[in-house]
Amino acid sequence: MAPRLAPLVVVSGPSGVGKSTVVEAVLALAPEVWLSVSVTTRLPRVGEVNGKEYFFVDDVQFTQLVEHDELLEWAQFAGHRYGTPRGPVLEHRAGGIPVILAIEVAGARQVRSRVPEAQLVFLAPPSWPELEARLIGRGTESAEAVAQRLAAAEHELAAAPEFDRVIVNTDVGQCAAALVACLHEQPQT
Ligand code: 5GP
Repeated sequence: MAPRLAPLVVVSGPSGVGKSTVVEAVLALAPEVWLSVSVTTRLPRVGEVNGKEYFFVDDVQFTQLVEHDELLEWAQFAGHRYGTPRGPVLEHRAGGIPVILAIEVAGARQVRSRVPEAQLVFLAPPSWPELEARLIGRGTESAEAVAQRLAAAEHELAAAPEFDRVIVNTDVGQCAAALVACLHEQPQT
C-alpha cells in the first residue's frame, strides 16, 4: 500500500483578493504548514526576495523546467508565467507536512487533475468594487497591469463553482481558520 501523504490545499481566486494575506495568517496559526514557493518570469517587486516570495527566473529557465516536467502545474498570467515546483510539494507531503499552494485558477485546475485528493479552495472578494479597490489600492502594479488583472478576474470569478469550497474574504482570521481546518483533514484517496 502506498504511504499516506499529508494534505495538499490549493487556495485560488483572483489577483488582489488577498490570498497572500490569508496564507500568512494560516502560517501564523499553523506553523507546521509549508507554503510552496513558486517560480515566475515576472520581475521582483520592490522588497521581494528571490527564494522567499518566488524563485525569479528568465523565460529560458522556465521553459527548461516545463520541458523537464519539474512543475506540478503552471500558467500564463497577465503576461508572465508562474509555476509550482513538483519535487518539494511531494517531499513535504511524504514527510507528513501539510502543504498549501496560493495560485491562480488555471493552475488550480491542473492540480485537480494531477492530484485528485487535493482540496481546492476558492477565495472570493466580498464584491467586485472591493476587488477593484484592493488591486488599485495596493499600488504594486501599473495601470495597465491592474487592467489586465481585472480582466482576468472576471473569468476567474466564474470558476468558483468548480472548487470544493468557496470562502468569501470578509475576515482574514476566519478565512485562515477555515483553511487550517482543511489542512488538518486527512485526504480522501
Ligand atoms: P503576482 O504577480 O501578483 O505575485 O501573482 C499573479 C497571480 O499568479 C496570482 O493570482 C498568484 O496567486 C498566481 N500565482 C502565483 N504563483 C503561482 C503558481 O505557481 N502557479 C500559478 N498557476 N499561479 C501562481
